[in-house]
Amino acid sequence: LQVIASVEPTIAGAIKAELADQRSSLKLIASENYASPATLLTMGNWLSDKYAEGTVGHRFYAGCQNVDTVEQTAADHARELFGAPHAYVQPHSGIDANLVAFWAILAQRIESPTLAEAGAKHVNDLSDEDWIKLRKALGDQKMLGMSLDAGGHLTHGFRPNISGKMFNQHSYGTDPETGLLDYDEVARKAREFKPLILIAGYSAYPRKVDFAKMREIADEVGATLMVDMAHFAGLVAGKVFTGDFDPVPHAHVTTTTTHKSLRGPRGGMVLCQPEYADAVDRGCPMVLGGPLSQTMAAKAVALAEARQPSFQTYAQAVADNAVTLAEGLMKRGVKLVTDGTENHLVLLDVSSYGITGRQAESALLDAGIVTNRNAVPRDPNGAWYTSGVRIGTPALTTRGFGADEFDRVAELIVDVLSSTTPTTTAAGAPSKAKYVLAEGVADKTRAASAEI
Ligand code: PLP
Repeated sequence: LQVIASVEPTIAGAIKAELADQRSSLKLIASENYASPATLLTMGNWLSDKYAEGTVGHRFYAGCQNVDTVEQTAADHARELFGAPHAYVQPHSGIDANLVAFWAILAQRIESPTLAEAGAKHVNDLSDEDWIKLRKALGDQKMLGMSLDAGGHLTHGFRPNISGKMFNQHSYGTDPETGLLDYDEVARKAREFKPLILIAGYSAYPRKVDFAKMREIADEVGATLMVDMAHFAGLVAGKVFTGDFDPVPHAHVTTTTTHKSLRGPRGGMVLCQPEYADAVDRGCPMVLGGPLSQTMAAKAVALAEARQPSFQTYAQAVADNAVTLAEGLMKRGVKLVTDGTENHLVLLDVSSYGITGRQAESALLDAGIVTNRNAVPRDPNGAWYTSGVRIGTPALTTRGFGADEFDRVAELIVDVLSSTTPTTTAAGAPSKAKYVLAEGVADKTRAASAEI
């Protein structure tokens, strides 16, 4: 830090403050974790100074022998850990991994047959007429994914995201009564829309997904099954999700982030079946430039950690702690979407406290509990204010929290929620933005969390 401070003290200060904040609060954001010192250190070194566009052994720059070692090691660990035929470890983030996957599927399913039909090997060999035909065909494809308010992700076809503009998008939701995925409904929509891509995976759905069933649906309508396991990759790696609930053997293409429950560096990856491997490896130059070699190295380190038996113990604890947290909240009167959890997260519906998700998020933050607001299915408050709060167990489980600690966390959360009231607007209605947390609760909660 002294070296950094001698150049830019503001940044050294921000790094120090971030460490202090992370140490003095309860980190309950479902997509966050604490990477190991080995993983963190691997991100700050000379690998960062090297350009290496291309793939292992096939680079557009000289002198990439060390980056080749790094990328190959990370890919080997990923294949072994997840039992995947092929792994591509260059994507800089989850969004990049999804973009690589979308274009790979389009290339494999639409571009290759068009090239074959025109007798061409490469798009540059197409006549202008055939090129225009191909571009039109690429722009006319359908995707079916989980809706945002049911727990899907922006990249699964949300209109403001590029995925919603690239594809003619349709979505499936959850059962209005149970909040659970309704596979018959997914099948019905798939038959109706005939998507090129059926996408499964989520950011805020607190249950397991049956990927074997999703694959059956995809096969019936000729769709490619893509699973975005960004949130629960740690549970797959740690063998909590196996059989029908392990996406990797069922999906044609599986994408993930590496920094959430998988506890690696901030980044993404694509795993796929052999027939998609060539197209996936063309992520650079399709949507990526030079890979972040230092991050690929950190992925290799984190994946090596995830291959240790201790990671399976960790992953099981993440899931067990989520159940303890869910039960601790429900027994104290909190309503949870789907009345429980089967993964690493719970989704609270805070409307019975007369507050929005945004007010709950802010009041919890005042008390040192870091969460994020989240829409609940068919949320009357929309995606900005919301009626929900999403809470996850990966980070505090890394800190060693178990059942006792998570029950205490549930108690603290309920104390804060029941001590929060909305203030009123000039017209006398409850304000969606302002709230009051009863005096003393923030300090009391911070002191209690320091003791856990
Ligand atoms: N996919 C899912 C399911 C996610 O939840 C997220 C992030 O929240 C992403 C993709 C995007 O990851 P990133 O923020 O690394 O781009």
